[in-house]
Amino acid sequence: MIVILFGAPGVGKGTQAVILAEKLGIAHLSTGDAFRAAIKNQTPVGLLAKGYVDAGDLVPDDVVARIVEEAMNGEEFTNGCILDGFPRTRPQADALQQLLSAKGLAVDKVVNLEVDDETIISRLLQRGRADDQEDIIRNRLAVYNAETAPLLDYYNDAGLLVSINGIGDVNEVSSRIVAALT
Ligand code: ADP
Repeated sequence: MIVILFGAPGVGKGTQAVILAEKLGIAHLSTGDAFRAAIKNQTPVGLLAKGYVDAGDLVPDDVVARIVEEAMNGEEFTNGCILDGFPRTRPQADALQQLLSAKGLAVDKVVNLEVDDETIISRLLQRGRADDQEDIIRNRLAVYNAETAPLLDYYNDAGLLVSINGIGDVNEVSSRIVAALT
């Protein structure tokens, strides 16, 4: 099963992806985590990505494709995966489709987690990651609205989209997602 967890920064994709991967017994790929690890280890991809991640801008699609392709060739991905933070642009969605169809697979569901902007900002300010400063958060939200949110129409037209209220207890939100997938 291939599930995309979709939503603005701070809606709880990362938290829910970990729980969901465990519940469904499938792998979890967070492109944000992959970039942070690559930056920490100063790999070639990490060096390319760092300036974008620090500023809250999108890493260029070709660099994203490199990290995703590598991860999805891993053995743990044969049973499917939860995609968290990918795709974030239309070219990324097209690249994903090609990558999956080469393996005879397709996206099964796109789960859109919905949380209002003010709740997002207060959650992220509490988390305090390096890119969780208010001006950078606002840039990430603007980038999401401009470049990523349009994918909602694309996946809705494909009949794959389900929207879930992301406000409430972590376990409650998780149950809502599982219910939507079964
Ligand atoms: P959040 O969901 O809070 O924005 P992520 O960990 O998903 O956090 O992403 C952190 C940063 O990593 C993004 O702001 C962006 O710079 C980069 N990034 C992650 N995934 C992608 C992607 N699919 N395309 C481009 N950039 C990405």
